[in-house]
Amino acid sequence: MIDNSLVVLNSLSGKKEPFEPLNPGYVGMYVCGPTVYSNIHLGNCRTFISFDLIYRYLKHLGYKVRYVRNITDAGHLENDEDVGEDRIAKKARIEKIEPMEVVQLYTVDFHQILEKFNTLPPGIEPTATGHIIEQIELIKEILEAGFAYEVKGSVYFDVIKYNESHYYGKLSGRKIEELIHNTRSLNTQSDKKNPQDFALWKRAEPQHIMRWPSPWSDGFPGWHLECSAMSTKYLGSPFDIHGGGMDLKFPHHECEIAQTQAIHNHPPVKYWLHANMLTLNGKKMAKSTGNNVLPIDIFTGNNDRFRKPYSPQVIRFFMLQAHYTSILDISQEALDSSEKGYQRLMEALGQLSKVIPGKKAGDFDSDKWLKKCYTAMDDDFNSPLLIAQLFEAVKFINLILHKDHPIDKSQWETLTKMSAVFVHDVLGIAPEEKSSDTKENTLNKTISLLIELRNSARANKDFATSDRIRDQLLEYGIQLKDGKKGTQFKLN
Ligand code: AMP
Ligand code: ZN
Repeated sequence: MIDNSLVVLNSLSGKKEPFEPLNPGYVGMYVCGPTVYSNIHLGNCRTFISFDLIYRYLKHLGYKVRYVRNITDAGHLENDEDVGEDRIAKKARIEKIEPMEVVQLYTVDFHQILEKFNTLPPGIEPTATGHIIEQIELIKEILEAGFAYEVKGSVYFDVIKYNESHYYGKLSGRKIEELIHNTRSLNTQSDKKNPQDFALWKRAEPQHIMRWPSPWSDGFPGWHLECSAMSTKYLGSPFDIHGGGMDLKFPHHECEIAQTQAIHNHPPVKYWLHANMLTLNGKKMAKSTGNNVLPIDIFTGNNDRFRKPYSPQVIRFFMLQAHYTSILDISQEALDSSEKGYQRLMEALGQLSKVIPGKKAGDFDSDKWLKKCYTAMDDDFNSPLLIAQLFEAVKFINLILHKDHPIDKSQWETLTKMSAVFVHDVLGIAPEEKSSDTKENTLNKTISLLIELRNSARANKDFATSDRIRDQLLEYGIQLKDGKKGTQFKLN
């Protein structure tokens, strides 16, 4: 059964629109994946968890979803304005390893982390380097359509020419005049006709090791091209949903639209969905500024920002307590409160399964409750509203458990079955005991407690105790390191 009441916020119109896929019953969804040149941080994880929720709910509604999420393993330069070194090549140079070793290392990390967060793998995970031929073909088509030009072995998209017949800025709302004004000072060395043009193909400089032959030069594709090439290859044109973080709207997604529109003369995507940012101390979590936390450091508690470790399930729950289009700030207080909420929810659901229903119904309209759960999710995947409904169920369960309140068979069946469906299948929250991190988490919490005890012993000048804790832990293979920002530990 596919319910037709789902509405989604389409970034293209800025409005909530009824979700009607191009082929009834089928959904094609493309999400921009990571550039694999470093460990993903929690901010990146939020975007992938947001789209995991969307994927899960569409599947739950009965759609056959083809979910494509790429790996960017070439072409993403340090600066989004087509300047600077390739991020992966730079890392390879610094680490003195092959670029493909960098790619492998961080692709594996990405997969391992997302698995800890219980996200479902996409159906297809194409790489940019695996689709060089498709990208070259796309450039040829754009050149043929007259929207690109070649200069000294590089090919650029002609934004000014495109904007004469189309609207460059339709997704991000940027005005071409402003872009011209803002980019004038940049790229004085560039071969571009206009500074706001973007690269489709770049001739490789002699020192650039990631290069492929093409009709124009030995070089590499521009970053925006891979997503146009791979999305249309696997989902056709147009397709239903294109997702990514809000920060990709411009220039990345704007350029994607221009590339496909230039050759097909129709918009490539029906619904553009954008996930909002995770912030830390009110600022966007980002690799470049150092304002970020790695998932592994938050799972172990081995970081100087949070007092204790948090499990992947608690963090996932924390993220889903905010709507995917809202900014979410991570803090100690917010994580503590999510941890409590998560435990309360899991405890109540665990207890409910052991309850034996009677003949008398309790004061809870389970059909109405179920409807409200669907209404929440149908309203642009409103997970915080769904969670609020789950806590309504928790209130009722606690009445049954602690106040002898009745529950009949039909109520019990609806509640046990559907709360499990919403918590496990739709929100993707796994019970902690199923998670392989539980033991690791317990160990980390124990070490954190010992560190706290050692610190208070030291504060009381009880050095015999503090040294004993440190030495004994070292004997067990746990090394404490005191720094300016507190004590951290390392498992030897
Ligand atoms: P990147 O590897 O930089 O291309 O980023 C991978 C994905 O993470 C993109 O969809 C970004 O929009 C997203 N992203 C980056 N920073 C954050 C953040 N602080 N919060 C949420 N998503 C983010
Ligand atoms: Zn992309």
